[in-house]
Amino acid sequence: MAHVINDECISCGSCEMECPVEAISEGDDKYMIDPDLCTDCGACADVCAVDAIHPE
Ligand code: SF4
Repeated sequence: MAHVINDECISCGSCEMECPVEAISEGDDKYMIDPDLCTDCGACADVCAVDAIHPE
């Protein structure tokens, strides 16, 4: 299981620095979460201003 960033993402970047395992990076049109690194902690979802991050 991993968290996923959906198309609501506005690429603000606020989630990237919250991830303790550096699983979040900027993609072409939104931020992405590497499912192999994500531990499902939920820290990123808590800071997303547009509620774009959810458990898969
Ligand atoms: Fe990182 Fe936690 Fe978000 Fe997974 S759920 S991407 S480990 S902050």
